[in-house]
Amino acid sequence: MTKATFFVPGPTWVRPEILQEMLRPMIAHRSSEFGDLFKRVVANLKPLFGTAQDTFVASCSGTAIMEAALTNCVPRRLLVTTSGAFAERWYAIAESLGLEVDQLNAGWGNAVEPEALADHLASRRTHYDAVTLTHNETSTGVTNDVAALARVVRDESPNTLVLVDAVSSLGAIPVHFDEWGLDLCLASVQKGIALPPGITVFAVSARALAQSEKRKYRGTYLDFLSYKKHADEGNVPTTPAIAHFYALAKQLDDIINVETLEARYRRHAAMRETTIRRTAGYAELASDPEHASASVSALIPNRPPDEIRAEMKKRGFTLGGGYGKWKATTLRIGHMGDIQLDDLNAMLDALDGVASA
Ligand code: PLP
Repeated sequence: MTKATFFVPGPTWVRPEILQEMLRPMIAHRSSEFGDLFKRVVANLKPLFGTAQDTFVASCSGTAIMEAALTNCVPRRLLVTTSGAFAERWYAIAESLGLEVDQLNAGWGNAVEPEALADHLASRRTHYDAVTLTHNETSTGVTNDVAALARVVRDESPNTLVLVDAVSSLGAIPVHFDEWGLDLCLASVQKGIALPPGITVFAVSARALAQSEKRKYRGTYLDFLSYKKHADEGNVPTTPAIAHFYALAKQLDDIINVETLEARYRRHAAMRETTIRRTAGYAELASDPEHASASVSALIPNRPPDEIRAEMKKRGFTLGGGYGKWKATTLRIGHMGDIQLDDLNAMLDALDGVASA
């Protein structure tokens, strides 16, 4: 097996056999062949999201489905929970759509505390149409407790929808859409699912679709009801990224039936533990260790991160830089998707010499 040397927290390394799937001959998207491919994909997306409700694939990056979630499901008032750059993106999108948006900010590097969310919801008399949660904050390497946060929303504000960004968690960290009572959950595929970027998978609850039905102006390209209508017929509304569908079908088969979800989550947890343990001599975790992510570690090393990245590049390894306001100070190691513990250890062997120099 080719060894992974690319440790950016998305896009992540893609197995050659998955890239190979993308070279298959073209088929028409209204053909029975595409219908079969679509069914294969949807059948495996359900266990991946942990849902019996609707799952879709859209030919766009994850941000487009964040925006679509708001145009489809949020008539007026939104609460955005933030603790890093990607959670803040929900806020920027909401503002750009002219929504009334509040922010519950836990601060970069922290997790959003369920008690703080409960206090916030209890102290407001206004009703929020939806609350956004970011399962895994890629900019800081923090995993939020979506199960607990969604429970708080359900208890404090039962008619408020729960919209979840699982971009860097799905396929790496467990997601239980139905059990956690989520209404929308999205993930672009270039992270835990380990495909080239370009498509996004998402699950939508019956409640969110009902909310969508009440929205008169919800756009055309990413109209959830159009996705639902076509999915019920085994298809998608517009010409899809067919090469990506081939790759997704094989990757999901491998995740669900060959590696299995349980083993995949264990592998990611082991990669987190290994990264933290092996870098402790020359770097500290940039964020709350209690919520350290299994897919990406953000570190503050003793040596400037840019120097480390340049030296590692000379040794054949690509690491991620800091993001947003943490750009200059942090080093991000993406350990997600199909990267194996052996690949990670080989990279950490090289990093030992570079980071402690
Ligand atoms: N949310 C998170 C947590 C991310 O890590 C990213 C991308 O890195 C995004 C959203 C945006 O996804 P995309 O670049 O696919 O639009």
